[in-house]
Amino acid sequence: MDLLYGSEYDIFEQEIEQFLADTPKHIDRRSFLQNAIGQGYVYRHIPKRFGGSEQLFDPIRETIVSRLFDASPFSWRLGPQSTGMIVPTLLEAGADWQREQFIPPTLLGDSVWCQGYSEPGAGSDLASLRSTAHLDRDEWVINGQKIWTSDAEDAGFMFGMFRTEPEADKHAGISYLLLEMNQPGLDVRPLKQITGATHFYEVFFDDVRTPANWIVGERGEGWRVARANLKYERNLGGGPRLRQRFDAVLSLAQTSMRSGKPAIQDTVIRQRLAEIEGEVRCAETMTLRQLSAAARDEDELVMLPLLVNKLYGTGIGEHIAQLGYDLIGDEGMIAPSRSTWDAVSASAEETDWVDQYLFELASGIAAGSSNIQRNVIGERGLGLPRDLRTPGRS
Ligand SMILES: Cc1cc2nc3c(=O)[nH]c(=O)nc-3n(C[C@H](O)[C@H](O)[C@H](O)COP(=O)(O)OP(=O)(O)OC[C@H]3O[C@@H](n4cnc5c(N)ncnc54)[C@H](O)[C@@H]3O)c2cc1C
Repeated sequence: MDLLYGSEYDIFEQEIEQFLADTPKHIDRRSFLQNAIGQGYVYRHIPKRFGGSEQLFDPIRETIVSRLFDASPFSWRLGPQSTGMIVPTLLEAGADWQREQFIPPTLLGDSVWCQGYSEPGAGSDLASLRSTAHLDRDEWVINGQKIWTSDAEDAGFMFGMFRTEPEADKHAGISYLLLEMNQPGLDVRPLKQITGATHFYEVFFDDVRTPANWIVGERGEGWRVARANLKYERNLGGGPRLRQRFDAVLSLAQTSMRSGKPAIQDTVIRQRLAEIEGEVRCAETMTLRQLSAAARDEDELVMLPLLVNKLYGTGIGEHIAQLGYDLIGDEGMIAPSRSTWDAVSASAEETDWVDQYLFELASGIAAGSSNIQRNVIGERGLGLPRDLRTPGRS
């Protein structure tokens, strides 16, 4: 087994390091992204006419860029709803005019999106959603409520699923619509999270309007459209990120004291660290395996493990956060919460373990809860019989 990428990629890695070294320290994110697109480093799979850099498919180059950009002082990532969800969906299922109008500003962060899927009573069983849209001449008129809508207050646009065919079967009755957030009848209300922060919201629709052609795909095809972006989701394992978290908790164990000695000298702590290190190594190896399969374009070997990545990565994240929380001991009861999304940092001192611990509770729910992942892995991955469904539920 050869775990090295090869000399061609070593040269590419040096090129990226040079690009980062040459970038002015105080550059804003938009200019940084423009430069990176110009060099062909980001948005490789997106055609130039839609604002991408249109490069040959090469997941190893993509991985090198992400790793080095993430480790740099530059903030370059945009919200996952924007580049990770609506852009791939439009590429796969949007009309050409929608791609031309919406993708370029989204790639530079000029247009910010939120995702309107979940509703009270429609989370895991999403197809039960009840918010409606009906056509009134050349506009959709939307009524109902969404919940847990991340970043809704900052977003200028929403993509969401709405029931447009009330008579149809529950999956067939849904359409995928785009809409502007800043308009009469649309009310965004904050939800306070366990960390004290406010990152997600309730969104209420009272005769909210959006043009008739702001539908992605056909009427009643929203369910299929919402799944279109899976094909592009090349988030290959969480190896590097989990390693960063593990390094932080290891450093905490080395610096914090237990009964007058560094915590790392405690047998139980050492054992927990060793177990987590084993899990992180598995995740890293899975990442490499998926990367090799992706480089050979073996979709089968990429798609199935993708189902496992979230479940497995969430579990490891929880173990790390729990250990960090235990290590800070009583301080955890009084520590002020910084309430940031990404409370973990490479250094133990900069990591807010209280936030991290609380946030991990949400990771096992967001974007499909762990139990739902288990069902999907069992049924689609392993071909096991379908789970028992209560009548009327999907
Ligand atoms: C941090 C965060 C951000 C989010 N951001 C967004 C967003 O931007 N937009 C959006 O639309 N939504 C968002 N969500 C909502 C998220 O998609 C839902 O919370 C998730 O799908 C679960 O739905 P629910 O909360 O209604 O829980 P439920 O579906 O009620 O599930 C409750 C529990 O029951 C279990 N369960 C349910 N059905 C089954 C089953 N068939 N078999 C076994 N167990 C089952 C689940 O695993 C879970 O433990 C976000 C959630 C979080 C935590």
